Amino acid sequence: MSRDFFREVNRRDFLKICGGVAAAIGLSEASVPEVAEVLAASSKKPPVMWFEFGSCSGCSTSFLNADAPNAVDVLLNHLSVRYAEVLMAAAGDLSEQIIADTMKNEAGEYILLVEGSVPTKPGYGMIGGRDFFEVLKETASKAKAVIALGSCSAFGGIPGAKPNPADVKPVSEIIGKEKVINLPGCPSNPSWLLTTVVHLLMFGMPELDSYGRPKMIYGQCIHDNCERRASFDEGNFVEQYGDEEIGRDYCLVKVGCKGPNTFSNCPQIRWNGGKSWCVAVGAGCIGCVEPSWPEAFMPFHDRLPDIALPGYAGLRADADLIGTVLGAATAIGIGAHLIGAAAKGKLGKHETVDEKAKTEA
Ligand code: SF4
Ligand code: SF4
Repeated sequence: MSRDFFREVNRRDFLKICGGVAAAIGLSEASVPEVAEVLAASSKKPPVMWFEFGSCSGCSTSFLNADAPNAVDVLLNHLSVRYAEVLMAAAGDLSEQIIADTMKNEAGEYILLVEGSVPTKPGYGMIGGRDFFEVLKETASKAKAVIALGSCSAFGGIPGAKPNPADVKPVSEIIGKEKVINLPGCPSNPSWLLTTVVHLLMFGMPELDSYGRPKMIYGQCIHDNCERRASFDEGNFVEQYGDEEIGRDYCLVKVGCKGPNTFSNCPQIRWNGGKSWCVAVGAGCIGCVEPSWPEAFMPFHDRLPDIALPGYAGLRADADLIGTVLGAATAIGIGAHLIGAAAKGKLGKHETVDEKAKTEA
């Protein structure tokens, strides 16, 4: 892959990226030079193979659009990307030879990046005449680590929702959880990949939650860090899309925000180079990083029914508890919606989309 294809980062941008990565990993500012050294050290450039399975390539697009900090430049100048279907010029026999050579010469060293879910029915997705699931099993067996990038790869995502004709599965269901780091999101944030790779280089595997997600990224509830949280606590809610209150930072829970059910650092790291994120633009969080997404979080713009949690007094719980609740709720055909005691009285009766339509008729 030609270096000329990508712009070089200037030192200021580079240190900014290193500072962001250090903060995400939980290191102090004093560690920024160390992070910079790891990113810059050519001897630590790990080989990477990036496969596209059952996906829309949205995570690649998200990654390639990143510009401030310029994760693309950093990753592609400081990793040795051997195979990446949406980027590389190689095709046919040459591209298959690259896979074989990387497996032979870099066994135990390369990072396997998988975007997209894995069809388990033969013939639903192939590379070089072999089914995706065969290619995955073979290449993962010699990888140092496997990063499941995006919700499809991590949990099945949209291809895994009903009716799922290809019987797609997440990566960890094909190769086991041992080497897999899940970075869900629809799409995954470019900084999550950067942070995870740097953690792998500096410290090895990051600490994961029970869904295989790094706790440094997915350890906090969105609702806890949301800029509209004061409105939630005060009972100031947007009642419907188009209300001027959207622009006045009123809480979006009544128009379907799933922030109380969702765990990631979106409010802090944000998107588009740290400029904005879903809730800031008035769209509400749809819970795209969670294991039971999308089905347990639909309708996206409808408030999910409240659910009483025995012994659960407030909103603070970890992702594992929320996941269990959502899983159980999905199994019985309803969603979970955790509402703080302070706001509960102000939210009023919950109506589903169907009920609202009936009332209005
Ligand atoms: S419900 Fe959504 S908009 Fe309201 S405070 Fe929580 S995360 Fe923010
Ligand atoms: S705010 Fe919610 S919907 Fe938006 S990217 Fe983050 S987890 Fe996904």
